[in-house]
Amino acid sequence: MDRKKSHLAGLFALLLWASGCGSASNVPPPTHPPTDPDQRADFVIARMTQDEKIQLVAGSGTLGSNSLSFPRGAGGYIPGIPRLGIPDLYFMDGSLGLASRMDQATALPSSLASAASWDVSEAYKFGKVIGSDMRAYGVNVNLGGNINLIGHEPRDGRTFETKGEDPILAGKIAAAHILGVQDQHIVGGIKHFVLNDQETGRMLANTIVDERSARETDLLAFEIGIKDSKVQSVMCSYNLIQWGSSGNSAYSCENSHLLNDILKGEWGFPGFVMSDWWATHSSYQAALAGLDQEQPDSDYFNGPHGSLTQDIQNGMMPQSRIDNMVHRILRAMIVSGLFDYPSIPGTSDPAANGAIAQEAEEQGAVLLKNAGGQLPLDPDTTMKIAVIGSHADIAVLSGGGSAQVYPTGGPVLNEGVPNPPDWAPVIWDPSSPVGAIKVTAPGATVPYDDGTDATSAANLAAASNVAIVFVSQWECEGMDLPSLNFTDVIHATPINQDALVTAVAAANPHTIVVLENGGAQVLPWLANVSAVLEAWYPGQKGAEAIANILFGRVNPSGKLPITFPASVNDLPRPVIPGWPNPTAQFNLDFTIEGLNVGYKWFDSKNITPLFPFGFGLSYTTFSIANIQLIPNSSSVNGFQVSFSLTNTGSRAGAEVVQVYLALPPVTGEPPKRLVGWSKVFLQPGAQQQVTIIVNASDSSHPLSYWDTTTHAWVVANGDYTVYVGNSSALKDLTTAGTFLVGPYP
Ligand code: BGC
Repeated sequence: MDRKKSHLAGLFALLLWASGCGSASNVPPPTHPPTDPDQRADFVIARMTQDEKIQLVAGSGTLGSNSLSFPRGAGGYIPGIPRLGIPDLYFMDGSLGLASRMDQATALPSSLASAASWDVSEAYKFGKVIGSDMRAYGVNVNLGGNINLIGHEPRDGRTFETKGEDPILAGKIAAAHILGVQDQHIVGGIKHFVLNDQETGRMLANTIVDERSARETDLLAFEIGIKDSKVQSVMCSYNLIQWGSSGNSAYSCENSHLLNDILKGEWGFPGFVMSDWWATHSSYQAALAGLDQEQPDSDYFNGPHGSLTQDIQNGMMPQSRIDNMVHRILRAMIVSGLFDYPSIPGTSDPAANGAIAQEAEEQGAVLLKNAGGQLPLDPDTTMKIAVIGSHADIAVLSGGGSAQVYPTGGPVLNEGVPNPPDWAPVIWDPSSPVGAIKVTAPGATVPYDDGTDATSAANLAAASNVAIVFVSQWECEGMDLPSLNFTDVIHATPINQDALVTAVAAANPHTIVVLENGGAQVLPWLANVSAVLEAWYPGQKGAEAIANILFGRVNPSGKLPITFPASVNDLPRPVIPGWPNPTAQFNLDFTIEGLNVGYKWFDSKNITPLFPFGFGLSYTTFSIANIQLIPNSSSVNGFQVSFSLTNTGSRAGAEVVQVYLALPPVTGEPPKRLVGWSKVFLQPGAQQQVTIIVNASDSSHPLSYWDTTTHAWVVANGDYTVYVGNSSALKDLTTAGTFLVGPYP
């Protein structure tokens, strides 16, 4: 134990002793609290009154934006118990930055951009920025880790908060974010448990799912995220979940099978489950089903609709359950360091965090098209480069809702119609693409047109050497996108941006389009433009990152973590169930896609998407050669693939080599699944031997399917085929080989 820690622990013991609370029970006077987190939690619990226990399991309201006390805008608050040394708990959103929604913090790019980096060490840094800003702000519980699998519904208004459509990529990236957060002595979080994959009617949706599909899709993402990060809190979701078409239905926050059997039982989750905001529907029933903390108010646990104190007195719930709820919360606080490493205001470093925000965008932006080597542009150019649309003269767009960050430097603009709710203004981050382009290419002339008049924009494009059109699509919690077209974007004056791009592209054959949006889009004008860069919501240093990519200072290496469909008609549900505003409970039938979420849907239906999962271009080229498949090697229970990767182009760059696995047909699995990848940076001409190990006992169960007879993960006997390449499309993959497990079935 370091000196500071030992000093604090001593102080903690002294406080307990001085409080005399030890005498309130039959516990002997404390000498020193135990170091083991479970024992230490019990040590505290033994000295708590019943009222104090109830205090910890029931929210005390929000410190909303009108609050004058710090941390202002906290989404949730539970006062501490000073006589026991228990600190106040301040809960705040943090999927892509500290989301106080009123005070400034580092606005990172979308979480989805972080997933598009396919780089867990980069994702760890992303989480560390969030954690360090939280610690400096006095917040100690992160309501982040949104890992809902939006492959079910790419129009989901929270796509930008998530980590994509694949459970393994999403799980690994989320775990890295959470580790980064937790290393800053913040209680990390993961949400929304589970199957909360559309915003339309999120409180009324009854998600119907079969056991196997749930295990292999959304639950798998959580299983990986939770096990790999040892996250300390899980937020259950608003929706109901029904097992199979004739199964029972229950709200996720009172779903004993999910919370008690799977999460706490099978996965051994030792932390606490908190409700999503006002997602609690009962008192002892929810508590017995596994809910440990009601948020943000105490309506059911200690309020107008219920009282756990009375429930215990009436014998509806045993005392041991409330003790367990408190144990889980205290244990999470202890493990995360809340007792020993309190917040230190003013300790974050905006400049260093801003640099990571830029790096995250540079690693996560995805080059979707680059005809004729249109990009990169030459930084020494003296050309006239027209920049058009999306307030690119001053700002870049961010996503809305509870994840909204107020960027360092403050929002430039909060424009938005039609009337976004007051809790969700449309915020534009202070990062100017025109400014960044001028800095990067000082000899260029860079006129700007706001894009509100397609004819004027086309005229400017015609009079310029190159046109860069910025198109943007605002998305937000609580509302899904009406379509995946850029026509529906929210601007003070609605602009048909698809028509704008078409007009500009007709006027200038060197038209580059930069997308600022939450997730997948359809691009009807794709064939007419020379280059497309998916920048997502790029964050407060987004313009600098975009300019670096456009001018080749950074070679793009991001890969799509979500399939871009050619049309919404190709999705499992062309029309969003319940759209637009359901007023009664409705079914969301996930048995339609079953196991086939995201690219697995497109694979299984033989539908060619606009851009496949895993796709992204570079300014250089790579070759993968001498592929060797080594199954069941002595060191690995699974297989490994090795190959030599060569940068065959003339620029340094990174390639994400992906490994997909086809399970034996007898399993009835989707045609293939992602099981591993490696992001490798190479100088021009350089070659590297790369080995990707796929370990069968990994938390992602890469070789297994969920067997509904034994209710367990099983590796089937039969042939497994391994593919290696740089996207999920078969044309981009090489068969590494096939190996046999066991005797032929
Ligand atoms: C959202 C959560 C969020 C909470 C607190 C809810 O509406 O669904 O993701 O953490 O609000 O802001």
